[in-house]
Amino acid sequence: MSTIWVLGAGQLGAMLKQAATPLGLDVRPVDIETDEILPLDKNDIVTAEREEWPVTAATKQLATHDNFVNLSTFPQLADRLTQKQWLDKLELATSPWFPVEANSTAEQFHQALGDRVLLKRRRGGYDGKGQHWLIESSGTSAIPEDWHGHAIAEQGIPFDEEVSLVGVRGKNGETYFYPLTLNLHINGILYASIAPLERLKGLQRKAEAMLSKLMNALDYVGVMAMECFRVGDELLINELAPRVHNSGHWTQAGASSNQFENHIRAVAGLPLAPAVIKNQSMMLNLIGIPVNYDWLAISGLELYWYKKEVRVGRKVGHINMCAENYGQFINAIESLSALPEPYPQALNWLKANLPQSEKAK
Ligand code: AMP
Repeated sequence: MSTIWVLGAGQLGAMLKQAATPLGLDVRPVDIETDEILPLDKNDIVTAEREEWPVTAATKQLATHDNFVNLSTFPQLADRLTQKQWLDKLELATSPWFPVEANSTAEQFHQALGDRVLLKRRRGGYDGKGQHWLIESSGTSAIPEDWHGHAIAEQGIPFDEEVSLVGVRGKNGETYFYPLTLNLHINGILYASIAPLERLKGLQRKAEAMLSKLMNALDYVGVMAMECFRVGDELLINELAPRVHNSGHWTQAGASSNQFENHIRAVAGLPLAPAVIKNQSMMLNLIGIPVNYDWLAISGLELYWYKKEVRVGRKVGHINMCAENYGQFINAIESLSALPEPYPQALNWLKANLPQSEKAK
């Protein structure tokens, strides 16, 4: 079996490697700053854990390999402008938007999009970075000077909640999906996820049809994530990620094959199958807080620590838990109650949204 190279050596690359190990597959995440000459074979496969990258010796080697799966998709989805154009072209619902052009004004945006307008940098924005709100009624409505030509303006959506769909498409075009995941973002950054949820089942087919349309149009192979706003019975696509995604981390605990394994299977041309979903799962991101190995004393808790330097707002790990009953979750949530702000909000959200009985799931 050939080697599967991953452009990027962050936590997603590490978890792709971890998932491929039991299959006996050789997955090698590559630090984009390495000077090493990579021993790439022509039959090897290249994938990525990030949607954009600077030109370095390593990325040049990888991006010129013939078997870089989805190579042409990355630039199209990494730029929010072309991503939005794809959604419009495929008539997939998304928050109304305009490009921020050289002569765009805040007044124009408010006239077209309303009081609350969110500017987003076209490139490089993640975890709420690269966002700027224009709120007409509070008089805070100026487009930052260097954002002209480099951003889009979106209508602020008063959504009911945020959900995401993680799907996988194989080389032969077959697709499989995990159940819709309910997500909590605080200040633009994902804190917690819950899946599956009975109350989201009614939206599953609609969400799958939306993501299928996209993956088919792009002839995409591997895992893709679609983040949406739920507004009543409607889904508006907020963002697409052509890679494994944080809101799919719960599948490590709660599915017979997780998103990382499915991505590897797909890019390697191995069989895919519907994942069997186990019980109830939750995921809590560890953001800007140090690891505490005492958490391992919590029954059912699965810890992933990324060995990154802890910085404010930085994702440094996550906790998964898959359990049968609400009491087990409550026990874990209460054991985590000493976590600092804004964790009380995230823990209360988990308590409020996890199904209270096995039947409710
Ligand atoms: P993004 O970087 O696009 O994934 O946005 C991060 C988070 O910001 C989302 O998960 C939402 O919580 C919030 N957000 C993004 N776009 C909008 C919008 N158009 N209206 C309201 N909230 C938004």
